[in-house]
This record gives sequence, C-alpha cells and structure tokens, in this order.
Amino acid sequence: MVKTRFAPSPTGNLHIGGARTALFNYLFAKHNNGIFVLRIEDTDIERSKDEYTKDILDGLKWLGILWDEGPFFQRERMDLYREHAYRLLNQGLAYRCYCTPEVLEEKRKNALKEGRKPNYDRTCRDLNLKDPDRPYVIRFKTPLDGQVSFNDIVRGKITFNCEELDDLVILRSDNTPTYNFTVVVDDALMDITHIIRGDDHINNTPRQILIYNALGYKLPEFAHVPLIHGKDRTRLSKRHGATSLLEYKNEGFLPEALMNYLARLGWAYGDQEVFSKEELIEKFDLKHVGKSPAIFDMDKLSWLNSHYIKTSEENRIAGMLEGFLVKSGIEIDNREKLVPIVRNLKDRAKTLKEMAQMAEFFFSDEIIYDEKAKEKYLTHETKKILEGFLEGFVSLKENDEAGQKLLIENIVKETGKKTVDVVQPIRVALSGRTASPGIFDVINILGKKSVEKRIKRAIASIG
Ligand code: GLU
Repeated sequence: MVKTRFAPSPTGNLHIGGARTALFNYLFAKHNNGIFVLRIEDTDIERSKDEYTKDILDGLKWLGILWDEGPFFQRERMDLYREHAYRLLNQGLAYRCYCTPEVLEEKRKNALKEGRKPNYDRTCRDLNLKDPDRPYVIRFKTPLDGQVSFNDIVRGKITFNCEELDDLVILRSDNTPTYNFTVVVDDALMDITHIIRGDDHINNTPRQILIYNALGYKLPEFAHVPLIHGKDRTRLSKRHGATSLLEYKNEGFLPEALMNYLARLGWAYGDQEVFSKEELIEKFDLKHVGKSPAIFDMDKLSWLNSHYIKTSEENRIAGMLEGFLVKSGIEIDNREKLVPIVRNLKDRAKTLKEMAQMAEFFFSDEIIYDEKAKEKYLTHETKKILEGFLEGFVSLKENDEAGQKLLIENIVKETGKKTVDVVQPIRVALSGRTASPGIFDVINILGKKSVEKRIKRAIASIG
C-alpha cells in the first residue's frame, strides 16, 4: 500500500513550491490507489502561526488536493518524540550533552577560524553524563565513519560520508524535538512509503536514514524533486511575482488551471499540456520527473487559465464572476445577466478578475465614462446620433436584434457617417468605454429599459 504525505511547516503561506510538492504526493498516492496524509509540522513554536495553517489548508482545498488522513499536528505528538529520544538515549544510541550555547559558539568560531567544519566536537559523546540540575540537549550518535547511501527515485544513487555529518541535536534543552527527528518518528509511525519533497532536503536524508536505522524502522523510498526557478534561473521568490497560492485565487485563476500548471512544473507526459485532474491521476509517475529545476512561466499559466475559462461550464464561471464583482463593490441587480456576460467575455478574459473589470459596466446605469472616450464620442455632433437612436429604439420590442441593426443602418444612411462613427457614441453611452463586447450583445444583456436610461443620461451629460 502506497502512502505519501505533505508535511508543511506553518511558518508562511502555502507557496507555489509547497503546493507542487503536495500535488506530486497526492497524485502519486492516487495513481497507486494509496493514501495521502497531511501533517502540519508546527514544532517551531515561535515561527508557526495558526493563520498560516489556515492558509495551507484553504489553499489545498481550493486546489482540490484532499487528504485521506490528518491533518495531524506535531505539537500534539510531543510525547511520542520524547519517548523515542529517550529510547535512543537508554540504548546508548544518543547522549546527553551539557555544552552551553556560549561554549558551542566559541568552539564554532574557533573551528571556522582554523578552516575546519564547525561541527560539534563531540565532547560529551562518551562521558555518560547525567546531572539532573543542569540543562542538557540529547544528541544523536552519528557513526564516526562509513557511508550512508540511498537510491533516490529522481536523482539516482546518492552517497554521503558519515564523517561529514554532525551529532545532531534531537531533543533541545527546553524538551522540544528537532525537525530531522520528528519527521522520522512520524513518517515511520504513519507508515509512509514514499517521501516526495523538494531537493533542498537531500542533505537531511542521510541523517534521517541513520535515525531510522537506530530506531529499527523500515526505510521509505525517497524522491527529491528539483526546486522551481524564475525565468532568470534563480530560486522562485517574491521578485518573480506572486508566490503564495491563494494570491492566484484572488487574481482570478481557476483551481484546475493551477493544478494543471503545477503538475507540469517538473513532470512531463510527452508534449501534452492540458490535463484534467482524472488524467493527472491516471498518468502521473515519478519516472518522468526531471532532474533540473522547473522554470515558472506566467504566460503558460495564463494560457491554461484562459483555456479553462473558455471551456468550463458557463454557470460555474458565472458564480465565480459574481464573487469577484461583489468583492469590487458591484451590486448585482440582476443575476440573470451573469451567464450571458460570461458567454460574451470568456474568450477574451485571461482571469476572472479581468472578466469582472470588463463586466462592471453592465451592473449600474450610473456608469462612469472614460474621460477620453467621453471627450471624443459624447459631443454636440454625436448628440444627434444618440437622439436618433433613442427615438427609434423606444418603439422596438425587447431583444429585437434585427430591428436594432436596421435602426443603426438607417442612422448611417441619414447622417452619411461610417458605421463605426455611429456605433462608438452608442457604445460609450452604454458602457463608458470605447472597447466592449459587440454592441448588440451589450444592448441585449442590458435590456431595453437600461439602454434607454443610459442613452438619455449620455445625452444629458452633453448638455
Ligand atoms: N516541514 C518540512 C518542510 O516544510 C518538511 C520536509 C519534509 O517533507 O520532510 O520543509
């Protein structure tokens, strides 16, 4: 039975890299009919915050990465880690270290000065000290020589010399455990079979393997996934734009676009670009995860988002569009307009936010005219066009598109102007702008009353 986990530390919002790690774990588990576990690694009490935990859970739910077990919280499992640390201590596989922070700092400085690695010099390793009155940490007894190797599913065989590894602290003097220790205890007790994570954790893996061995637990498989880089080939950061997942939600990206995009960040299936969630589950494997960093490409994400806006059910997009409109303070006078608006804008809007901006004018007759548009198209010269249009329009039935077309053709004939010069003033009167969806679509989405009101208002604004 395959069992994977996503184990974020709630010391920041869920970012693109974390979401991708979660997704790979989720897809690998689902592909193998396995189980996906969520574990919040909140042992760093100062930096962990509930708001970050919430952001992580909300982000995963939004993407559609649903966990089968958890969320587990490491803070609720402290006794387990302590028990395990003392078990190693009692078996002589770990030791109490009484070196004070000041002494350690001194040793570290000297080592650096003399060009040595600033590893702990193991003063307390064989002293068997036990003094109940002084604070101590518990350190793991790393073998002094030999090697640790593992076959990484992505990277192949990786070998470390034990010499390079420190006697790491597993339990601090305040009785809190450290990451490399809790992660092993949890992964072992939760029966995790595959550890899929960022390759910034490769250096931790040999330490963790030694702890598995000392505790007598079975080793999982490891797959270290290359990090995500920006277009300039440096590690993805704020400089490259939004890095927090929910920022993309707020910018109007669809969760399926993000999921599709994240899956392709570092994994490939021939040259296929568009995948539904079901297809990802069916096709995902670790063999096709690349060894070099994936490059985050905003244009491609935008392209996928447009694709899903175009192809998703209009009703669903309309519901989301409504959320964006409400958020920008628009009162929805008539929800029936939403689906026709989506039908109209879905080929042009790259995000729901953009669609909402394009759609705002549909909802209030008190539109604000774009200054340049007003200057150019709401003038004494065009007033006659608007008056002529209004006169003909009031006697037309609702949604009589043929009648509307004829009306405009007649104005063109009477005034001797070009069609665009007749249409543009009407467009500005109705939408406030020079660019909008097709004029007849605008007229019919707005409805007869609203069109009349807007034309009258534009005429009045000319004075
Ligand atoms: N809490 C660790 C992190 O967020 C987990 C690393 C791991 O997957 O082992 O980096």
